[in-house]
Amino acid sequence: MKRPTILVLGAGYGGLMTVTNLQKKLGVNEAEIVLINKNSYHYESTWLHEAAAGTLEPSEVRYDIKDVIDQSKVNFIQAEVTKIDVDEKVVLSTAGEHTYDYLVIALGFEGETFGIPGLEEHAFSIANVLAARRIRDHIEYQFSTWATEPEAERDDSRLTFVVGGAGFTGIEFLGELANQVPVWCDAYDVPREKVRVICVEAAPMVLPGFDPELVDYAVAQLESKGIEFSIGTPLVEATEEGVKIKTGEEEFKFIETKTVVWAAGVRGNRLIEETNIESARARVRVEPDLRAPGREDVFIVGDCAFMINEAENRPYPPTAQIAMQQGQQCAANIASLLAKKPTTAFVPDLKGSVCSLGSDDAIGVVFGKKVTGGTASFMKKMVDNRALFMVGGLGLTLKKGKFDLL
Ligand code: FAD
Ligand code: NAD
Repeated sequence: MKRPTILVLGAGYGGLMTVTNLQKKLGVNEAEIVLINKNSYHYESTWLHEAAAGTLEPSEVRYDIKDVIDQSKVNFIQAEVTKIDVDEKVVLSTAGEHTYDYLVIALGFEGETFGIPGLEEHAFSIANVLAARRIRDHIEYQFSTWATEPEAERDDSRLTFVVGGAGFTGIEFLGELANQVPVWCDAYDVPREKVRVICVEAAPMVLPGFDPELVDYAVAQLESKGIEFSIGTPLVEATEEGVKIKTGEEEFKFIETKTVVWAAGVRGNRLIEETNIESARARVRVEPDLRAPGREDVFIVGDCAFMINEAENRPYPPTAQIAMQQGQQCAANIASLLAKKPTTAFVPDLKGSVCSLGSDDAIGVVFGKKVTGGTASFMKKMVDNRALFMVGGLGLTLKKGKFDLL
């Protein structure tokens, strides 16, 4: 009898956790597991801000998928998925056509531009490891170009860097940039006072909704390193010359810059929007067992899935923490279906959140307790190492882990 095919799309946190758990749960004869991912490697999305700011080599952020999968059980195909047809049960990719008995969509996030004019063309997004590398190279290029331009022709807007959004991504990126700017100033003989790093946030506070005491700490730390905040001033347009921000009812300000890093929110993968599955911002409101509504054979995990936290009556945030737990549950549910057993509802086990402010500082709420500084930073590294351990065990953790504060 033909083994059922489980087709997993995407080797981010959700997809890899699904596959590594499936390969533990299922014998070779029980199913054919196929994993498709654009690259031959997985990248740690949660470290992308470091690669983007130049504080971590992009190669450190990624590892080979073949190092963590059991190739006797998983057929890995490096290809880009181009179409998902859940009615015909077929997926198209640059490697051809793929059929399935169970499909797991784990294609992750994209930057959300909310239709703001000029952003698609003129802003960078910390969306994947190559995009992060490009941001780092672009910023460093601004330093080197400014430094080598004839003094009379120097364009100071090269040294103004705008970060759109003071959510977790924006703040973590600013934390890294605050540490890296002096390194570049030193390398290219650029006076520090010439460099401006401006964070533009639409909401009336940094990290909206987070603990105000911790937010004050973060802002004070970043300001002490020269980061400027423009709060309650939505970015409304980006052009080749800079960005327009709304400072009052009918008032606007223009900031001249050649670098806008847009970190003001995420959406699911646009391929979702081309399926017959209902979604909002390419995120699907999944059933409690992580299946797409009305689809017995389609699971969605990670940032493409949307779930409401009933206790707080608001959506769970799209995080790696949740994506990994969903991957575990998804694998368990597929194994149950193959064994003709009922599936189980996914219940997130949230341990807290920590926001880094560079490699040496952070803020967070962990198991209900507030943490700052070195303690928080240490915890963040432990969270990063734990994610490696959950996918690739001790070997991967020792190879790629962060141990500089231990
Ligand atoms: P992803 O990690 O985005 O993986 C998707 C995978 O699918 C990728 O491998 C991609 O290459 C692949 N893919 C995409 N399109 C295609 C295609 N067409 N064909 C083939 N393959 C494709 N969350 C936390 O919990 N803690 C943190 O500290 C944290 N820090 C973050 C820091 C930054 C800078 C950012 C941007 C996010 C952070 N997050 C954090 C959020 C977290 O990274 C995401 O929630 C998480 O990555 C979602 O996992 P995922 O598996 O859904 O998708
Ligand atoms: P977000 O949606 O959490 O924050 C986006 C920010 O951009 C908000 O503060 C919003 O007010 C602001 N914004 C929106 N439109 C704007 C505009 N026009 N002009 C200026 N500002 C604007 O997005 P994110 O920070 O990318 O985070 C995405 C997800 O990833 C979240 O779930 C987050 O929790 C998670 N994440 C977690 C960590 C961590 O745990 N350390 C780190 C990064 C991201």
